[in-house]
Amino acid sequence: MIHDLFHPKRVAVIGASTKDLSIGNVIVKNLLHYNFQGEVYPINPKAPKIRGLKAYASILDCPTDVDLAHISIPSKFVPLAIEQCGQKGVKNIIINSAGFKEIGAGGEALQKLALETAKKNNIRLFGPNCQGIINTHPDYKAYCDFTFTYPKSGNISIVAQSGGVGAVLMQRFFDLDVGLRFYASNGNACDVSIPEIIEYYGEDEETKVIVLYVESFSDPSEFIEVAKKVAKKKPILAMRAGRTEEGAKAALSHTGGLVGSGLAIDLVFDKLGILAFSDEEEMCQSAIAFAMQKVPSGNRVGIITDTGGPAIIATDTLVQGGLIMPDLSKGAVSHLQTKLFPEASIANPIDVLATANATHYRAAMDTLLEEEQIDSIFINFVTPPFVDCQAVAREMVAVSNLGQKPIVCNLMTDRSQWGKTVEILNKGNIPCYDFPEGAAKALASLVKYGDILKREDSEIVDFNDLDKDACRQIIENAQENQKEILEAKDVYKILEAYRIPVAAWGIAENENELPQIANSVGYPLVLKADSVEAVHKSDQGGVKLNIQNEAELKIAAKEIKESIKAGDLKYFLQEFSPLGHEIIIGAKDSPGIGHVIMFGLGGIFVELLKDVSFGLSPLSKAEAENMTESLRSAQILKGYRGEKGGDLKGLVEIILRVSQLVSEHPEIEELDLNPIKTIPGKCLCVDARIKIGSKK
Ligand code: ADP
Ligand code: MG
Repeated sequence: MIHDLFHPKRVAVIGASTKDLSIGNVIVKNLLHYNFQGEVYPINPKAPKIRGLKAYASILDCPTDVDLAHISIPSKFVPLAIEQCGQKGVKNIIINSAGFKEIGAGGEALQKLALETAKKNNIRLFGPNCQGIINTHPDYKAYCDFTFTYPKSGNISIVAQSGGVGAVLMQRFFDLDVGLRFYASNGNACDVSIPEIIEYYGEDEETKVIVLYVESFSDPSEFIEVAKKVAKKKPILAMRAGRTEEGAKAALSHTGGLVGSGLAIDLVFDKLGILAFSDEEEMCQSAIAFAMQKVPSGNRVGIITDTGGPAIIATDTLVQGGLIMPDLSKGAVSHLQTKLFPEASIANPIDVLATANATHYRAAMDTLLEEEQIDSIFINFVTPPFVDCQAVAREMVAVSNLGQKPIVCNLMTDRSQWGKTVEILNKGNIPCYDFPEGAAKALASLVKYGDILKREDSEIVDFNDLDKDACRQIIENAQENQKEILEAKDVYKILEAYRIPVAAWGIAENENELPQIANSVGYPLVLKADSVEAVHKSDQGGVKLNIQNEAELKIAAKEIKESIKAGDLKYFLQEFSPLGHEIIIGAKDSPGIGHVIMFGLGGIFVELLKDVSFGLSPLSKAEAENMTESLRSAQILKGYRGEKGGDLKGLVEIILRVSQLVSEHPEIEELDLNPIKTIPGKCLCVDARIKIGSKK
């Protein structure tokens, strides 16, 4: 059905107007201007003709069936118009009109009514509050949109929640003379969803790369499921947006969707294999590389240049992007000595010199194709006025057409004087860039996607030594009693049920019970306040460390009681554990996406240096290992200059157990193990908090 949306044959424009400056008029204009081959029926009860086409008073008067209708009339009339479309047998409607969910409660009710009416009539709704779709295919050209850029046909498909962003991306590709395949901007997305469009693009053979702009997901799980599948087939390039608090607020008021936490979205993109960008230009430039070239089989690049400086800049950016520049083989060097000018520099980069002609370039390219330790070719080409640059360009195209190794080109030229050269390269599918950094970043994106394709489907670890029932029981009880913050007893029982190592503990309901519980825990011990009012215990004087005997215990209890004047105060007694490093492991729910899991070294590393790593549950072993490896302070855990490290294996296991715990109990909104104390071979959690969400 969504295929029909992108391939309309007979389009009615409800709200078509004789006024040039109106959306209904522009849509008719665009359909005609973009050479839509089907029928266009302007619907207007008053005007006899619009843009030279016969207008009809109602969609019911159209002489043939209609398969797609635009609606651009005031929102309150939209449900009735949908009803009439139903009578006419319309299958898809694009609602351009605004005045729905994005304006608040009244609009939301209207949107709901529109959707219900559509469902009843078996109609798919696109929008409301949106631009529409464009199909650039010469046989199915359709401009069902009110924007102004007329894209040429190509292989990049755009889906953008925001029409403003989508239109700018479309214009940029147009300016760069690069074609598009499909364009879709669905605004409030009450029915046809972004995941559905991504899935459709994924199946479309002519779409080589998908460019995505999204601010919020109404159903993140639908997106995750689709994107995971599609990203393995073709690259999805996405803009990160709404990542700062300020950005997120803007997104909320913009489309009326709920914005997931920016961090969680970043993690989702990463986990799904979506290439995320924070710069629109960079995303467009990378998309062009994907549209024109294949993905390299590895990260080893050979550079050919006819000028020195840009090759150095390119090298820097390539290396930063994770590429390496292997040396040329001896055979290659001696071969090129016979083919290039004697002054040429034969290494990687190969400097063919400014006077190099097409034969020299060809020899250098052929050599890089032959070199097994090279996966891609980067060309710095400044167009010398004393060289037949068109011939050089033709050789690049010829080599690219062999389809062996991808080529990108940093083309330094005056595009008006060297127009023909530019045209040869563009028609020949050589992605050309104005600066070495741009070309290098685009190539790095190709390499990154190659890595994603090579990623093995990492298996989620599933421990089977758990007491899930015990855990469930505690959570249900808490929810029934409307307890959000669990008391210590429940927290530690949950951790024990998931076999997360905790220091020996006991709880004294009052002072009298202290000596006996202390004996069962054993000295030296730690005494802590157990009260929902004492969340940050040590700040409130609720933690007494290294208690050696009963006398000290009594004093400590008295001091705690004086500091924490809480009605529910109990005493939490815990084995004192002087073990080495302090670690923090936490989890925070991102509804619909999963839990963000955090790992870091405690103390200043977390507070001052913010040296923490994140993952998204459920985690695989490789992901958990990566979290411990990617800390800047990772070396401390491995042991450094005679200082002992920690139990990395044990920590990875705790991360995985926490990930399983929160995945299996999504009611857990927040969880904090802070600190876990660790030395080589041993980990012990000595403080933990769990916050449960209210029953849904
Ligand atoms: P809170 O985080 O509520 O202030 P904690 O229970 O984490 O309270 O205690 C504060 C600090 O005391 C911990 O970060 C840790 O350095 C130390 N500590 C707590 N419990 C123990 C213990 N059982 N053994 C050794 N040190 C501990
Ligand atoms: Mg703590």
